[in-house]
Amino acid sequence: MIIKSRFIDTPTPQNMRDFEGYLIVEDGKIKKFTLDKPEGKVVDFSDYIIMPGFVDTHTHLTQVELMGKWHTDLFDWLEKYVFPEEMRFLDRGYAIRESEKFFNLLAQSGTTTAVVYGPSRMESVDAAFQIARKVGLRTIMGQTLMNENVPEELRISMEKAKKDIIALWNKWNNDFSRYALTLRFALSCTPKFMKELSQIARKRNMIIQTHISEQEREVEEVRRRYGRNYAQVYDEAGMLYEKTILAHGVHLKDEEMNLISKRGAKIAHCPSANFFLHSGVMNIKKILAHGIEVSVGTDIAAGQFTSILPVLRDAYYANPIHPVRAFYMATMGGAKVVSMDDKIGSFELGKYADFVVIDLKNLANIDDFPLEILSQLMFRGDDRNIKATFVAGKKIFERD
Ligand SMILES: [Zn+2]
Repeated sequence: MIIKSRFIDTPTPQNMRDFEGYLIVEDGKIKKFTLDKPEGKVVDFSDYIIMPGFVDTHTHLTQVELMGKWHTDLFDWLEKYVFPEEMRFLDRGYAIRESEKFFNLLAQSGTTTAVVYGPSRMESVDAAFQIARKVGLRTIMGQTLMNENVPEELRISMEKAKKDIIALWNKWNNDFSRYALTLRFALSCTPKFMKELSQIARKRNMIIQTHISEQEREVEEVRRRYGRNYAQVYDEAGMLYEKTILAHGVHLKDEEMNLISKRGAKIAHCPSANFFLHSGVMNIKKILAHGIEVSVGTDIAAGQFTSILPVLRDAYYANPIHPVRAFYMATMGGAKVVSMDDKIGSFELGKYADFVVIDLKNLANIDDFPLEILSQLMFRGDDRNIKATFVAGKKIFERD
């Protein structure tokens, strides 16, 4: 496949590249960029710009129906909306219908890789992986594991969890569909549960994902229950290592940032969700100063957008970050957080051809400076600007 367009990427937090010409894709990978028109049929996207596909590093498949349903307290939100909705996913048919909706929404939003909290049962997660493959999205996902303080129907025993984790890992363990150990958080999992399941995950080098320090009341509750800080609780359970993705981190203390940094764990910043639940504002400068890699997440449904673009705008309102840093977090930074920086996230030769075709109509002029384009896209863009989405050179969405 040969594509003609203007290609912009952000391979580092300080660096952006801008190239106008032809991209040659072979076997789903980026083979070459060239100024001269190559032989063969050209797909003409010269009225658009092309960027690496967006990496959404924190979102919930089970909550797509809950977006924009008003609430202010995390615990009330979980009780009133989230748990009843997650119970509906015990029905495999419902899980299939919602998965179709969810993955198509992400594809339409220019997301090419998503890190997902799935339904609580392995059968529904297995079905969701199959649908993600059908839609074409790169997916890192696990069943949302809980063994206490939640409705009985959503809990799982240690024995069953261990069996299911291994079965799902053995089946879904490649560049397109990758199982991740998904522990909801320290208040719905016992220490023993977190510890033993993490051992299984780390032995296999799995991604581990969980929530940390989203709201003050939650942080206090963790302190009251465990007598130590949030990061310590996870560290003692053996959950923190280079493949761990921690969502939020709004109220982390310096000592916790030190510990997270020392272990090499990453943070998924979800500013839209934090604004919605009035959870507070994550201090990105401090977290970056500790040498922690930060990516972004839509966090559907506390986040109200399926698109990463409004999340970047909210990231700016939370902390004044440079647009290049914002797009880096949404692409290459996300790739680092999911340990795929040698495969996706920028336009390096040999990487997968995961990219998004962006329509700048009503936003910017196609021949503006690249920084102006990124800035206008960040402050005014959303899913309506996505013309097409490609994963490994395959078109998974195109707007008419
Ligand atoms: Zn979440």
